[in-house]
Amino acid sequence: MSCPVCGKPADPRYRPFCSRRCADVDLAHWLTGSYALPGPAVQDAPDPARPPDED
Ligand SMILES: [Zn+2]
Repeated sequence: MSCPVCGKPADPRYRPFCSRRCADVDLAHWLTGSYALPGPAVQDAPDPARPPDED
């Protein structure tokens, strides 16, 4: 079984999630009514304010 939030292997302590973080994310989705289908986590989206990579 994999985490429905991020797809990583689930942790028995938090199943079906991989972590407390993903469990909270899923709960938040339900509470806000934005939960549609299991998919990639959205909290890992690139930060638009991130400074450019130094080279
Ligand atoms: Zn997860």
